[in-house]
Amino acid sequence: MPRTTKKIARPLVTGNWKMYKTGEEACQFLETLAPLLEESQVDVSLAVPYTAISLAAQKVAELNASIAIGAQNMNDASEGAFTGEVAARMLKSAGATFVILGHSERRHIFHETSDFINKKVKKALQEGLQPILCIGETGEERENGETEEILKTQLHESLQDLSKEEMKQIILAYEPVWAIGTGEVATPEMAEEAHLLCRELVASGWGKRVAKALLIQYGGSVKPENAADLLVQENINGLLVGGASLQPETFYEILQQYEGITV
Ligand code: PEP
Repeated sequence: MPRTTKKIARPLVTGNWKMYKTGEEACQFLETLAPLLEESQVDVSLAVPYTAISLAAQKVAELNASIAIGAQNMNDASEGAFTGEVAARMLKSAGATFVILGHSERRHIFHETSDFINKKVKKALQEGLQPILCIGETGEERENGETEEILKTQLHESLQDLSKEEMKQIILAYEPVWAIGTGEVATPEMAEEAHLLCRELVASGWGKRVAKALLIQYGGSVKPENAADLLVQENINGLLVGGASLQPETFYEILQQYEGITV
């Protein structure tokens, strides 16, 4: 029996490859995945390593596939003496159409602040790259009952000063840090509660219309076995998938989970 949900948009499932795959490996992946997506009911995008963006974008065009290629980070400056950094316009010219910003691995391993992430969000928007902004609490913060406060602070600081028009370009990803790469997925109820909170926060800052249209992805140990229970939730509009996006067959199995859900 198909499950029913009142979804506002086609879901968007994004693979975050982190520091995995060369350009050639990205192309092999795309050759396997692309033909499977012809009838897809789900929008698909892949955040690949910088060095794979150009080849992956060319491969997508060659295969005439409907897969957006993006980056996993960028610097907030237009250009300059920042050894090892990458600017938005470089990503754009390589073929990226979106960029993940504020991923918990950037916040926690590379100590990026919400203030810095806010500058990057603004820069990405200026350059025409769609940001996927990640926010999420650590396990300790959840245990201490601080989830709501953390999400509120990260959301407001990372999106500070954005206009309603700019907010329409934003994709939000709720990624509880304790669920990323751990195999410990949030229960659908937990995830739905956090997504609803995020939508309410956006409604109070930018209005109900912006909040209703906002696409909010869940990320954290998504697998084919748990994807359907998450996607059926009213406020979950997509998934951000790390480890399980590295094999085309597994990633495709996740995409297929939406098929049993009636909009
Ligand atoms: C991620 O990297 O955004 C992520 C959610 O990773 P994983 O699916 O491996 O937990």
